[in-house]
Amino acid sequence: MTKVISFQDKVVVITGAGGVLCGSMAKAFAEAGAKVALLDLNQEAAQVFEDAIVADGGVAKAYKANVLEKDSLEEVREAVLADLGPCDILINGAGGNNPRATTDNEFHESDLPEGTKSFFDLAKAGIEFVFNLNYLGTLLPTQVFAQDMIGRTGANIINISSMNAYTPLTKIPAYSGAKAAISNFTQWLAVHFSKVGIRCNAIAPGFLVTNQNRGLLFNEDGTPSARAEKILRNTPMGRFGEAEELIGGIFFLADENLSSFVNGVVLPIDGGFSAYSGV
Ligand code: NAD
Repeated sequence: MTKVISFQDKVVVITGAGGVLCGSMAKAFAEAGAKVALLDLNQEAAQVFEDAIVADGGVAKAYKANVLEKDSLEEVREAVLADLGPCDILINGAGGNNPRATTDNEFHESDLPEGTKSFFDLAKAGIEFVFNLNYLGTLLPTQVFAQDMIGRTGANIINISSMNAYTPLTKIPAYSGAKAAISNFTQWLAVHFSKVGIRCNAIAPGFLVTNQNRGLLFNEDGTPSARAEKILRNTPMGRFGEAEELIGGIFFLADENLSSFVNGVVLPIDGGFSAYSGV
């Protein structure tokens, strides 16, 4: 318990690593000595983090990968094995919502203005896109990378759930359902891999401003949207979180000394949002 946290020479594979939250996790793992594989559909975005980590003297490599394509993931798995070695820690970070699976209205009413995108207007393709990105996009990388993790000391998987998993947020039914499925899948994996030494846990971040939710949280002139004001009223700490504030929880779950008997939990990191009834 008194050991300083170190991920020296651990191979950490992070999907969605070109994004705000997972890029920041990648930097933190590299600073703690890990060799980090940055996987993203947007390779240029992941490359920016590779460059920053390498410039700081760390070990990282960016790979183009689609978490929805098993062939793409298998190809990257071979490359990571050759470049960095077998995966010790997998962070399933790729995910997000999409306007195609978002209603305009919080509540359905009989006299919605002309042109309102209601629940009845959401196309199957948009719903499928969001559900698959979050759920299948967690399951497929786990199928591919967990093969190399079996029997490795301290191996573990961390999924990214959300506040939506506890109580759905209005407007985003596919994202809410997919994140609930991720919390469930986290428990399923924890049980399934319990005999082969792979732990599986998740974090459920509260509200952090990133690319995927900027449009929902801010008006075009930069002022907080009505939705953002509502979120802040329901976050007892009264502010949005910062990407760096996820690192303590991630390190706790990933570190084999700190959490060797923690398996199947979803850790909220939310400024108290999930604890607050609003009253
Ligand atoms: P982000 O949009 O900044 O990053 C997501 C990254 O995933 C992007 O770089 C994108 O290119 C990549 N990606 C998208 N589709 C992909 C695919 N098919 N294959 C590979 N990569 C793909 O988002 P973020 O806010 O950093 O989100 C990271 C995770 O945290 C997501 O799972 C998100 O749902 C979750 N989350 C975010 C918040 C928040 O407040 N921002 C809250 C709770 C949970």
